[in-house]
Amino acid sequence: MGITENVAAIKERLEKAAPGRRVLLVAATKMNDADRVRQAIAAGVDACGENRVQELLEKHGQGAYTGRPLHFIGHLQKNKVRQIVGVADLIESADSRDLLRRIDARAGELGIIQDVLLEINIAGEESKSGMAPEDLPGILAYAAGLGAVRVRGLMSIPPICEEPGGNRPFFARMNELFVDIAAKKYDNVSMDFLSMGMSGDFEDAIREGANLVRVGTAIFGARPYPPKTDESASRSARL
Ligand SMILES: *Cc1c(COP(=O)(O)O)cnc(C)c1O
Repeated sequence: MGITENVAAIKERLEKAAPGRRVLLVAATKMNDADRVRQAIAAGVDACGENRVQELLEKHGQGAYTGRPLHFIGHLQKNKVRQIVGVADLIESADSRDLLRRIDARAGELGIIQDVLLEINIAGEESKSGMAPEDLPGILAYAAGLGAVRVRGLMSIPPICEEPGGNRPFFARMNELFVDIAAKKYDNVSMDFLSMGMSGDFEDAIREGANLVRVGTAIFGARPYPPKTDESASRSARL
C-alpha cells in the first residue's frame, strides 16, 4: 500500500479508537525524503515530526513541510537549540530545566514564543532521555517564570514492548500526570497535547488519553536503516 492509503487507514483506526474525539496525526518523517513527506501531507496528516536537526533543516530548506506545522520529536542537544527554535512550531522533546532555559533565551532573542512539550521518561529507563515524573512540579514552576517558552503538554516514548497492550500502564500513568497538571493551573503552562503512541501502539495510547500520536512506519513502511552492528541496530530501531 502507498502512503495515501496508509494515512486513510490510520485515520479510520484513530476514529475507531476514540469516536468523535480529535486526535492529531503527526507523521514521523525521518529517513523519508521531501517528496514522500509531501505525499503524507497531501494525504492529510496533521503535522510532521522530525527527530534529527540536520535532516529537519535540510528538508525544511526543500519546502518539505509546507502547509503543516513542524514538530521536533528527537533528543535535542544543547548546542543545536539555536538551529531549532523558531523553525519547529512545537519542540516535543524538552527534557530538562537547562534545555528550557536555553530555548527560552533563544526564543527571546528572536522575539518569539516557542511552544514545547515536556518529555517524560515514564518507565524510568536509564538509557532514555526525558524527565522523571517527580521532577515535574519543580520544572513546571520554573517554566511558569519563562517569558519566551510556553509549555503546551507532555510527551513520552515508553519502552519497546512485544506484548500487545504492554504499555498501557505507562500511557495511563502519563494521562494521570497530564490531568493532574492541568488541574493545578500553572502560569504559562496549558495541557493541550498529550503526545504518546507510535505505529505499534497508538490505539492503546489513544484509549488512555493521547490526543497526539507520532506515526512513522505505519505511514511510510519500514525505514531503510543502513547495515549496522546488532547493538546499534536494535537501538536505532527504537528511533
Ligand atoms: C520514529 C519515531 C516515531 C514513530 O515510530 P514508528 O514506530 O515508526 O511509528 C515516534 N516518535 C519518535 C520520537 C520517533 O523518533
